Amino acid sequence: MTTSPDVVVVGAGIAGSALAIALARGGLEVTVLERETAYRDKVRGEIFVPWGAAEVRRLGIDDVLLGAGGGYVTRLASIDEEAGATDGEPRAVPLDQLLPDVPGSLNVGHPEACQALADAARAAGATVVRGVGDIAVTPGSRPRVTYRLGDVDHEVDCRLAVGADGRRSMLRRHLGMHHDESDPVVIGGGMLVDEAAGWPGDLNVTSTHDDVYFLAFPRPGHRVRVYLMWAMTQKGRFTGPERQRQFLEACRSASLPYADAVADGHPAGPCSSYPMNDSRCDTIVADGVVLVGDAAGWSDPIIGQGLSVAVRDARMVSEVLLGGGDWSPAAFGGYVEERTERMRRIGFSARLTTVLRTTFGPEGRALRQRWGERTGHDPLVLAPILAVLTGPERAPGEAFTDANMERCLGRA
Ligand SMILES: Cc1cc2nc3c(=O)[nH]c(=O)nc-3n(C[C@H](O)[C@H](O)[C@H](O)COP(=O)(O)OP(=O)(O)OC[C@H]3O[C@@H](n4cnc5c(N)ncnc54)[C@H](O)[C@@H]3O)c2cc1C
Repeated sequence: MTTSPDVVVVGAGIAGSALAIALARGGLEVTVLERETAYRDKVRGEIFVPWGAAEVRRLGIDDVLLGAGGGYVTRLASIDEEAGATDGEPRAVPLDQLLPDVPGSLNVGHPEACQALADAARAAGATVVRGVGDIAVTPGSRPRVTYRLGDVDHEVDCRLAVGADGRRSMLRRHLGMHHDESDPVVIGGGMLVDEAAGWPGDLNVTSTHDDVYFLAFPRPGHRVRVYLMWAMTQKGRFTGPERQRQFLEACRSASLPYADAVADGHPAGPCSSYPMNDSRCDTIVADGVVLVGDAAGWSDPIIGQGLSVAVRDARMVSEVLLGGGDWSPAAFGGYVEERTERMRRIGFSARLTTVLRTTFGPEGRALRQRWGERTGHDPLVLAPILAVLTGPERAPGEAFTDANMERCLGRA
């Protein structure tokens, strides 16, 4: 069976479906090929930080994500063990006041978001095919995509193939696009917790306590997505049959407000962990092919940027495709350049966050205290962390230099 859409998108996750919506709304013929027949909780991103929420609005998909059970959260408290809840919460960052017209972070379940975006892509006119296998892409001025659905082989001839197939991108591997992963310093695990009725629905929290870095992001309906991060030296932590219970107990930390609300809640999904690292691709554009989202290189989840990155990628690529007839690799130069610098800055913020938040014990407490004191009189020391919320391009370039890393860590 042969068809000829304008664009074939491989992967109907966040980046792929967001792009398909924009292109289909713009009048292009789009086919989206997704491997899974149903989206499952694989413990992925569930918070669009404010700059990502702004991208979501700009792409016109905020209603889709709110309709998928998402909600805006207006405060972020970073609470350290020595400061305690009483000091930390009153100093919570007002997420609804950081960017014009952005009501906060947008918290939404990952499988629900993927399903709603895929449905919206279909409603906008895209063809979304689920359960495909054996996808192969032949690049060129008229790329060819072949795949198998059930026991039928299909062939699609298009003007552009987009790789939106996530971290382990088949398309990237298949086309030999070089990809480097950084060495992880910590492991991060997550679990969705239900019936956490005592957790305030307007409050995101990050907190370092003992030997874990804790992050909690509420959603409507008394649900909280909780992530814990711990040292690589404790590799086997939260891996046995009791891991869900142990994970909840580890949340019962003294410095955390409403800790018991989470610890007394019920697991509503798997408890899975991943090494926290990032990756970089030298090339994300080839003749007739573009990569977006995690497939184009992912950011370290410790600072929760991947969803925002994915939606900005979708927006930037859609602007090229809807902007004129030139779809040659050169036409994506602006996207490649902006993304390269964006990911460099995000990588810097992630490395700084990792040192500040996951250096445990007295050394870590001293580091955080020094950093906190400096932020009062040196805006450059705050800038790489604030950029996590407001967007990497909003901070000055000097914030992302080796010299500033030394200042942030109190070594210069
Ligand atoms: C533990 C953890 C926590 C995170 N927390 C956050 C957070 O709080 N905030 C944040 O912004 N980001 C977070 N992230 C990152 C975020 O989840 C990702 O960056 C984001 O989901 C990337 O979107 P994507 O569309 O590129 O990939 P995905 O969402 O992974 O989608 C890829 C899609 O491609 C499909 N696919 C894969 N292979 C094929 C194939 N061969 N053929 C067809 N289809 C295929 C997959 O089934 C999937 O549907 C986190 C990540 C992890 C691991």
